Amino acid sequence: MKFVHIKQIKGSRSLYGSFLYIALFPLFLFGIVMMIYSSYTLTRNIQEEVSNNLRNVGVAVLAAYEAAYQGDYNVIIVDGRVEFYKGNTLLSGDNALIDDIRNDTGVDISIFFYDTRVLTTITDAEGNRMINKGANTTILNTVVNNRTDCFYNNVLIGDKRYFAYYMPIMSWDGLTCLGMIGMATPAENVTHMVRSSVIRNLLIMMLAMFITAWFILHFTSGLIDIIRKIMVFLTEISGGNLSAELDPKVISRPDELGEMGRLTNKLRASLRKLIERDALTEIYNRRYCYRKLEDMIDKAVPYTLAVGDIDFFKHFNDEFGHDCGDAVLVEVAHTLNDNMRGNGFAARWGGEEFLLVFENISGMAATLVTERILDDVRQKLVEHEGKFHSVTMSFGVAQADPLLSLDANIDVADQRLYQAKEGGRNRVVGE
Ligand code: GH3
Ligand code: MG
Ligand code: MG
Repeated sequence: MKFVHIKQIKGSRSLYGSFLYIALFPLFLFGIVMMIYSSYTLTRNIQEEVSNNLRNVGVAVLAAYEAAYQGDYNVIIVDGRVEFYKGNTLLSGDNALIDDIRNDTGVDISIFFYDTRVLTTITDAEGNRMINKGANTTILNTVVNNRTDCFYNNVLIGDKRYFAYYMPIMSWDGLTCLGMIGMATPAENVTHMVRSSVIRNLLIMMLAMFITAWFILHFTSGLIDIIRKIMVFLTEISGGNLSAELDPKVISRPDELGEMGRLTNKLRASLRKLIERDALTEIYNRRYCYRKLEDMIDKAVPYTLAVGDIDFFKHFNDEFGHDCGDAVLVEVAHTLNDNMRGNGFAARWGGEEFLLVFENISGMAATLVTERILDDVRQKLVEHEGKFHSVTMSFGVAQADPLLSLDANIDVADQRLYQAKEGGRNRVVGE
């Protein structure tokens, strides 16, 4: 296969590069923005869920105490010891309820009487419950003084970080704030949950992005391939190869690229017509006929030539005008062309002279065919401006001698044409 070199247009990016830039750059930009935004939203949602969970546990603990024991929370200091009551029931040292809930939910619970932690599931390094410890003043301020719930994502209890939710504990009449209840879950648990959700989310988004990118690459390279095929075809045509073929896949496309392919094909047909055909009669011209003959000689195809000339052609021009002469030329050319189908081809050799090329046909056989063709010419009347004109021709037929040059063989046929003219015209002089 002939290698066709397509020059890269100087200073320009390749079309493929441009396509990728247009398609992939926004995709990756969009992907990155979406990944950042969704990671942020996911983190916030998980934290909100943790906060709700902690709050629900707190509500459940307070409801359980309320159902089990009547009366308000209270504290009595006995010998410097803090004793925590609900109504008449001593709660200090009785951790069964909060321990059960902690076991069920995994959430640590602390109850503060004002600022002192009186009940808790949280233990220190030695395993002792962290009671009688003061609460963080900021938290205390917000929850006890302002009587509002609050959620923190970074509370240090002992030396461990927690996500914690605090709610005020109100007296039975709702007038006094007696302390607060805090629910806490280790920060590392939440961080782990956030990390695995975010990573899963990022992986899914990246996979979606890569699949989309793959589709874009696949589609883009398909389009570029079609454009390249049209370019290769145009390169062939501009290099003079008018028999180049455009891939049928391009021509059958229903889109603009297919139309471009079809137009390029039409361009080739128009160029070919301009180069190969005579403008008036549309049969082969002398130059193309010569080239075809040279090709045949290269391939050692035996051939016979018949040079034909219209008799008294000047008469049509002089008597009826140049247009009448043209009409005669067109009619004669078509008659010759039609009759040569299957035998070889006809060409306009110049003025009112034609060349018939018989491929693989002997001089004798070609002479007989030429006689028949002349008969056809005689019978066809040429109509011009309502008048009908009969035409005759003279022919010289010569079987080509492979030892002679093309011009020498044409000369032999020409001499016979001269003899035909001399002999009275309207005849064939052949083998
Ligand atoms: P003969 O029988 O000896 O061939 O006589 P003739 O009149 O056919 O030959 P001659 O060579 O004297 O005349 C040919 C004329 O053909 C001369 C030229 O003006 C005319 N001619 C050449 N090309 C064209 C053309 O394209 N159109 C027309 N209308 N005339 C043409
Ligand atoms: Mg003539
Ligand atoms: Mg002539």
